[in-house]
Amino acid sequence: MTNGLSDTLVGWRRELHQNPEISGLEFQTTQKIRQWLSEADIAILPLALKTGVVAQIGQGDGPVCALRADIDALPIEEQSDRPFSSRNPGVMHACGHDIHTSVMLGAALLLKEREASLAGKVRILFQPAEEIFTGARQLIDAGALEGVSVIFGGHNAPDLPVGEFGTRSGPLHANVDRFEILVNGKGAHAARPEEGVDSIVLAAHIITALQTLPSRAFSALDSVVLSVTRITGGNTWNVLPQQVELEGTVRTHNTAVRALVPEKITRLIEHIAAGFGAHAELRWHAGPPVLVNSAEWADFTKDVAAAEGYRVHDLPPLMGGEDFAFYLHHLPGAFVNIGSASAFGLHHPRFDPSEALIAPAARYFARLAQETLHKLQA
Ligand SMILES: [Zn+2]
Ligand SMILES: [Zn+2]
Repeated sequence: MTNGLSDTLVGWRRELHQNPEISGLEFQTTQKIRQWLSEADIAILPLALKTGVVAQIGQGDGPVCALRADIDALPIEEQSDRPFSSRNPGVMHACGHDIHTSVMLGAALLLKEREASLAGKVRILFQPAEEIFTGARQLIDAGALEGVSVIFGGHNAPDLPVGEFGTRSGPLHANVDRFEILVNGKGAHAARPEEGVDSIVLAAHIITALQTLPSRAFSALDSVVLSVTRITGGNTWNVLPQQVELEGTVRTHNTAVRALVPEKITRLIEHIAAGFGAHAELRWHAGPPVLVNSAEWADFTKDVAAAEGYRVHDLPPLMGGEDFAFYLHHLPGAFVNIGSASAFGLHHPRFDPSEALIAPAARYFARLAQETLHKLQA
């Protein structure tokens, strides 16, 4: 069965990889997952979802444990040169969600074989739109967590070798917030700046001052990252533009620290702008919250990983975001990392994770779910 399972899952992964779909538009992907589950006689729950699939294995009144895979791809042109590289121009599975989907399909097949002996039910969430941080909330709103006691999910980790496993109890992924700043000066001829208010020079002062927030307005232990990632203003060489737009992101792990950031940015930019006789406005877009693993379940994922032969690490907190965090605001559970040994990182056009992780990870998640049901019943 082992080689057969591995071949099947690698085949499915390559089919998903060749046909990537961006967040929220995973229609063919949804169809394929439904087909593969149905062919294995695995029940699909009748939830009202535009894309994504929720399957369930097991029966009776026992506890319910959930496993989650994400299924969406990214707007990136693939450069991996693999024979199974993307056939959709400008779209690529550059985060390995094709791998995650095949892993959880494999877990579903293995759990189906053991269905009669399960001490409850395992619900498997194939979640859309992780990359735009809306998919988890869609599944929650559709009722995918109803009756569920514990949830687990995982991501491939390109910087870990295959066979290695990492997680931590407490905060793992960061609060992810996006901001825009509109800097409004007064347009003028570039040769006569005294007739206007230079929004470009003002934007430069604001960018520099923003970098003092993490270092001067918060403790070094607060782990605040602030990055300005876009500057848009002006369209020629001899005109000072009226307006400059800035965009960027703030990452934190502490909810109280996160709550202080918008007011500190607002105070800083309003006063700098006022000093120039101009106006600056913050637009704040809150993203997924910090992903907090339950200590009990993070430890349990590590115990099961060690028993499955993984080399287990305690990870430091990560500054990236993961919309699995929304589930953990409703339920206990844990999110884990499994080594995928790619020379190029997540979201890189040459990202190329090892397929050798797929079958062992499928066995791992099947065992994790099965043992979780026993633990919940005990
Ligand atoms: Zn990603
Ligand atoms: Zn991802």
